[in-house]
Amino acid sequence: MESLEGRVLSLEELSREQREFVQKHPDQLRKFYGIREGMCRRCLNQDSRLFQEKPCVKGHGNCFYCLDCLAFSRVSTCSALVYLPVTSLEPREVDFYLEHSLSTDQERISGEMLESLSKGEDRLIWAVTGAGKTEMTFACIRKALSQGKRVAYASPRIDVCLDLHARYKKAFPSEDIPLLYGESKEEYRFRPFMMMTTHQLVRFYQAFDLLIVDEADAFPFNGSALLERAVAKSVKKRHSIFWLTATPPNFLIEEVRSEGLPISILAGRFHGHPLPEAEFSYVGDWREKVIKGKLPNCIHQFLKEEVAQGQFLILFMPHIPLMIKMESILKKLHPDWRVASVSAKDTKRLEKVQEAKGAAYDLLLSTTILERGVTFYAIDVAVLGAEDETFSSESLIQIAGRVGRHKDAPSGRVVYFHNGQTKAMRKAQLTIRFLNRSYQEGREDYHDLFTLS
Ligand SMILES: [Zn+2]
Ligand SMILES: [Zn+2]
Repeated sequence: MESLEGRVLSLEELSREQREFVQKHPDQLRKFYGIREGMCRRCLNQDSRLFQEKPCVKGHGNCFYCLDCLAFSRVSTCSALVYLPVTSLEPREVDFYLEHSLSTDQERISGEMLESLSKGEDRLIWAVTGAGKTEMTFACIRKALSQGKRVAYASPRIDVCLDLHARYKKAFPSEDIPLLYGESKEEYRFRPFMMMTTHQLVRFYQAFDLLIVDEADAFPFNGSALLERAVAKSVKKRHSIFWLTATPPNFLIEEVRSEGLPISILAGRFHGHPLPEAEFSYVGDWREKVIKGKLPNCIHQFLKEEVAQGQFLILFMPHIPLMIKMESILKKLHPDWRVASVSAKDTKRLEKVQEAKGAAYDLLLSTTILERGVTFYAIDVAVLGAEDETFSSESLIQIAGRVGRHKDAPSGRVVYFHNGQTKAMRKAQLTIRFLNRSYQEGREDYHDLFTLS
């Protein structure tokens, strides 16, 4: 039964058909209890602080349940879990459509990925923002599917998943590609090529031959032990995990250094123009001013110039309340400007982003939610409060990476307005410069990058 394959499920969450299957075919399934020997058998949590003791509803006295994967459903000591191993698939023809041919650099990395796939090894693909990393995955996904392998794509960001789902569907027009995420209304189905947010991997066990993890440096993946375990357990024993990122997190750099994780680096954008470098601009205590309903002078000047030139701009800010305040200040001062704001809490976010792509605004205020995964035709970006701890060097590099994505508009301005430079700001600036220089010089060895700080 397809819908049971490759996932660890509790009896309570099964549909009627699934239950019937479980009763009729006990020989095909593995059944086990939810928590044994201090470990949750669904998410593999072993941290005793993440188990909660509670009187058992089934009358076993006190049972424990796992807090780490509670968001999915409750797994307790006495929960019955079932697991049906995945069936193997026959080799087949896979339809494939590529809009543009790959650049020489993309071709090289695509080849390295194919090699890792055939060896069953993992690989880090470090490709700068705008390098065209999605296109580089097409060949190995096609190869894997045609060999009867199972493939999954996962990213921590739902916006990224939605965007890429459309692109993968276009590239593989004959595949049914389910997209799993928390709020999805679609009925679950298991197919050879699955896409999902990284959280959804928690349910899977030894299901995939090839797993592509996109943007592992993004919240909430980076630093989440639950999600790291989910990646490791969702793949089969022999597998390839491809980590795709423009800003590798420390845990991956550590794996390259000490465990020899193979790495592919693409330091240039697909159109060959350099990455935009950031300017720093000191604004002083901007919070104080914004709270009092005022705009710091230099940012006001900057915004007026941008709007006067008809240049669309995204202004990133660290906190939602300050951003909302800023929006109202701007609307009061400049009723003629078309201003909007977006955040993770904004239910109209996806619509507003679409409107912004259609040039409906002069200025868009955003939290880090738009730092990655979205592409606008010709924009400038600025950060107000770049010193805030919300803005890691990865985040600042991603923000700069929104600019100059299109070959007809390959440059633009990036300004970090700050109240005191931080290490993250300097690291972001240094990294971008280093990548640009390396690419211009045609350098192949980028290991110096790991020592930047
Ligand atoms: Zn758990
Ligand atoms: Zn119990």
